[in-house]
Amino acid sequence: MDVSQYQKGTAAVWAGENDLYVKGAATAPVVNSVAFAYTDLDEWYAVATGNARGYIYSRNTNPTVGVLEEKIRLLEGAEAATSFATGMAAISNTLFTFLTPGKRVVSLKDTYGGTSKIFLDFLPAYHVDVTLCDTTDHEQLEAEIAKGCDLLYLETPTNPTLKIVDIKRLAAAAEKVGAIVVVDNTFATPINQNPLQLGAHLIIHSATKFLCGHSDAMGGVLAGKQDLVKKVFQFREINGASLQADPAYMIARGMKTLELRIERQNASALAIARYLEAHPKIKEVFYPGLETHHGHEIARRQMKGFGGILSFAIEGGYENVKKVLPRLKLAHLAASLGSVSTLAGPPRTTSHVELTEEQRKLLGIPEGLIRYSVGIENTNDLLSDLEQALKTI
Ligand SMILES: *Cc1c(COP(=O)(O)O)cnc(C)c1O
Repeated sequence: MDVSQYQKGTAAVWAGENDLYVKGAATAPVVNSVAFAYTDLDEWYAVATGNARGYIYSRNTNPTVGVLEEKIRLLEGAEAATSFATGMAAISNTLFTFLTPGKRVVSLKDTYGGTSKIFLDFLPAYHVDVTLCDTTDHEQLEAEIAKGCDLLYLETPTNPTLKIVDIKRLAAAAEKVGAIVVVDNTFATPINQNPLQLGAHLIIHSATKFLCGHSDAMGGVLAGKQDLVKKVFQFREINGASLQADPAYMIARGMKTLELRIERQNASALAIARYLEAHPKIKEVFYPGLETHHGHEIARRQMKGFGGILSFAIEGGYENVKKVLPRLKLAHLAASLGSVSTLAGPPRTTSHVELTEEQRKLLGIPEGLIRYSVGIENTNDLLSDLEQALKTI
């Protein structure tokens, strides 16, 4: 548009904004537009009523956000995908879409802290019947599912002791009672595990973690059966926990290197787990790639790689955790995980800070535990770093 005929105030608004989409641009643009304009009112109406492709308002859909959703849809082999402002928004919107008053959900004691809070505090207040089973007690889970439930919610591997849940086995039990099966696939990533191929109907990721991979943007995604994803999408459109174009761009960019990062992190984590298992100062190592891990057989069946997270208990309990952790040079002592840089921390100050020592004990979390999220650094450098830090005890 030629704006030379207008005053400065008008030109400041309209000048230079034509032909925004540079044809052939090698990177998808960040479209920070809240609304999308139409010159043809009939077309606008067709898009607004869902009868033509296009965008209306970014709380509903946005082109940059759509790029990310399409990546996760294909990586998980899903019919459809949608996204959220955070991983917790993906989880809460999904649970509140399907769990209306009077419904019943079966899940695990070891779900992510925020998820656990929804099960323990929020859903019961909405008169939803919540049953949380011992995470690896498949018989108990099957028995509770068989009593009848509307939704089965799983997470595997779990935080922080990497417990493994048999998705195929439990999805089969859920199938018999017509329950929707949802799996939080954050720890495994779509490179290592595809729950939809094992009978799950929906998968969720905290995209803040491995998908983004750089600890610099937050988001959540949901993928799976078209009709189910659509229901949650419609709830989220109104509930409003939409992902913005800027973080969507960051996450989509991170996802371009997902496979490379996960391959490195899988290999490093296994090498580190084996090293720690043989270390005299280490009492126990939790990593599903170790033959000694109680869930190793299931993990071998349902995972292509064992992931970048491990945890280990050191001799001397929390007193020694306080000595060793600050000695690590190649680890941020922080709460997150799944980044290019190694992150480490004790569950008692991070994921399980709300629990008492007794409750952590009941969940099988030793007080001397360190969760270690392996970055993409050189494996030998990480091994040497652990070696020097452990020398202090
Ligand atoms: C971090 C995390 C979440 C929550 O995601 P946010 O993006 O922090 O809201 C959910 N599940 C798992 C397994 C996580 O690690």
